[in-house]
Amino acid sequence: MERIERLRVFLIESPIAMARLQGVGNVKGTVKRVLVEATSTSGLVGWGEAAPWEVFTGTAEAAFAAIDVYLRPLVTGAPVNRIRALTRAMDKALVGHGEAKLAIETALFDILGKRSGLSVAELLGGRVRDEIPLSFSIADPDFDADFARMQAMVPAGNRIFKVKTGVKPHAEDMAHLEAIRDAFGETVDLRLDYNQALDPFGAIAILRDVDRFRPTFIEQPVPRDCLAAMASFAAALDTPILADESCFDARDLLEIARLGAADAVSVKLMKAGGILKAQALMAVADALHLPGYGGTLWEGGIALAAGTQFIAATPGMSLGCEFYMPHHVLTEDVLLERVPNRNGRVIVPTGPGLGIEVTEQSVRGNARILAEA
Ligand SMILES: [Mg+2]
Repeated sequence: MERIERLRVFLIESPIAMARLQGVGNVKGTVKRVLVEATSTSGLVGWGEAAPWEVFTGTAEAAFAAIDVYLRPLVTGAPVNRIRALTRAMDKALVGHGEAKLAIETALFDILGKRSGLSVAELLGGRVRDEIPLSFSIADPDFDADFARMQAMVPAGNRIFKVKTGVKPHAEDMAHLEAIRDAFGETVDLRLDYNQALDPFGAIAILRDVDRFRPTFIEQPVPRDCLAAMASFAAALDTPILADESCFDARDLLEIARLGAADAVSVKLMKAGGILKAQALMAVADALHLPGYGGTLWEGGIALAAGTQFIAATPGMSLGCEFYMPHHVLTEDVLLERVPNRNGRVIVPTGPGLGIEVTEQSVRGNARILAEA
């Protein structure tokens, strides 16, 4: 039986090209991530990535330790074709640390795909889409810089833009939204994301104001635990409310459904803690007729390849994705070749496994390695 023989873990840091200002926390300078390389007894190599964000899901240092100290003994010697058995064992051995478990699950899927000649999407049931509409986030502290980016991106086929609102004063948000609608009219699919920034007290007046710019959805206007407020906005506005920080897993979604607190959900592999768990979450969303959106934290190419394969094989993920980091934010990435973005869409790779190539050299040459084990 083919088993995992060796596991290597890298804590890396990558510089980013533009500062990102978001309700819940700001990012500038660098982002940290954890990469996992698993090698099977027949010499097949699979890669996975944990990209936590400390204000959202946890820290990269904690993910590194979780993999190196607590999960390594379970993974070493595990059969490569028993992914569910391994994820169950990981859940039993370690609470939380979803990103660490995702990284290992991803590496096993990558190996299983290379072993069978199938893509991860095929292992998940086969693709229902070959391209995924790409959303770019308007989150630069310098709005004019983002506006200039839009002026280049819209003619290149990009249509979806998500404005990070609630960080700057409301009047500034209004001016920016007006500038975008004035310049691009209805050619852009405009979405708003407050990243929990609003106080529930008085929030509805602000949301009614921004609603006049006809956003496709308003994402997470209030803190994650304010489900009653979310429900009141969903009832008061025609514009759909999308839950992000409020919804990590299927259990969260059941509570959101019970209260009517959202009309759509942002699914992130880092929140769900696994590709199979994200599909389980979407099974619940499908039963409720809530569409899914492919959200991100600060993932690099490996994690976004996993997300791309997941969305390709999950019909309910119909609202597109925001997998723009390797092309726009990270100044370097560890993939030999990036997953292509064309005409404002992510093109789903067709090769086996994740459909990407990573080597030890491409990791060492393109990331600052803070620790390895
Ligand atoms: Mg969000």
